[in-house]
Amino acid sequence: MGVDCWVLQIVHDELVQLMGGEVSELTFAKTGPTVILLAGLQGVGKTTVCAKLANYFKKQGKSCMLVAGDVYRPAAIDQLTILGKQVDVPVYTAGTDVKPSDIAKQGFEEAKKKKIDVVIVDTAGRLQIDKAMMDELKDVKRVLNPTEVLLVVDAMTGQEAAALVTTFNLEIGITGAILTKLDGDSRGGAALSVKEVSGKPIKLVGRGERMEDLEPFYPDRMAGRILGMGDVLSFVEKAQEVMQQEDAEDLQKKIMSAKFDFNDFLKQTRAVAQMGSVSRVIGMIPGMAKVTPAQIREAERNLEIMEVIIKAMTPEEREKPELLAESPVRRKRVAQDSGKTEQQVSQLVAQLFQMRVRMKNLMGVMEGGSMPTLSN
Ligand code: GDP
Repeated sequence: MGVDCWVLQIVHDELVQLMGGEVSELTFAKTGPTVILLAGLQGVGKTTVCAKLANYFKKQGKSCMLVAGDVYRPAAIDQLTILGKQVDVPVYTAGTDVKPSDIAKQGFEEAKKKKIDVVIVDTAGRLQIDKAMMDELKDVKRVLNPTEVLLVVDAMTGQEAAALVTTFNLEIGITGAILTKLDGDSRGGAALSVKEVSGKPIKLVGRGERMEDLEPFYPDRMAGRILGMGDVLSFVEKAQEVMQQEDAEDLQKKIMSAKFDFNDFLKQTRAVAQMGSVSRVIGMIPGMAKVTPAQIREAERNLEIMEVIIKAMTPEEREKPELLAESPVRRKRVAQDSGKTEQQVSQLVAQLFQMRVRMKNLMGVMEGGSMPTLSN
């Protein structure tokens, strides 16, 4: 197996796990109507999602009712009514003078009478999180006892999505999230950390303005999408190019026979530098995202130091790192020639031997057929 291939596979598997592994199904009530309460900031696509969801359930043969609980924008009620007509689902409205929790309750009673399977309740969003919105949601939730409380988040908000889901979960308690506008330019990065940070899964995704553009959230497809569209792929591609130039198989042999030397080390260091920013690459690897900019700068500085030290070695020393491991005199000379300390030289030598062991272990696992997972 080529180096390029396992890098991609490991990153892919890590992404899938990070996003929850499996599809997270919606729950339905055992008796009476299933109630889905939708929350979210203004403009994220909440009202659209209401109708999309109704359409989605209708296709599964379930009857639906929409409840217009956004009393702050009369336009929101009109919009929901129009969308309801479009998907041919009844919409319960009570104007803007009734409390949202009362509207929700009345809508629910109406749905129960009509033996509706799923009731979807729209609520008012705000531009930002505020206490009034949270209190109102808590109120509606208390009277409805919903089966699902889903937070609608806009994929364009990027990493902010995870923070939003966490906040709403702590404040009102949610069962999951719906990520909208994945058809935009955003790369789906918003999906990455929602589960890990908030503990709540993304259950559905919106991929466009049409009523059909709603589907379950598949972590493996999303991982593919992120790899396919994001910077990760270009990183892997570049790694691949560099590896091909150097002949990946040759490298693999060297690793297996523990011949990986300072020349290989230097080539790799240069390859990383060539790939552009180390920080970008580090930031893309799940679990590594917590690395601070200061740590990244240090990593970049360390790469430069390594290069200077390796250049001060004789060709023989580069090929046989043992020479340096065995001789303090050689290490001292390299330190003097490179302008670095003896300690820095010793560290680099130790690092190469550590790397040999780690790479050999990794390759051994790969040969054995099972994938190692990167530890966080
Ligand atoms: P609300 O304020 O959260 O209720 O948001 P709306 O449902 O009114 O949606 C705001 C805008 O986003 C509308 O123009 C929608 O057509 C659009 N929208 C909603 N979902 C999607 C989606 O998945 N993709 C795209 N491209 N646009 C969407």
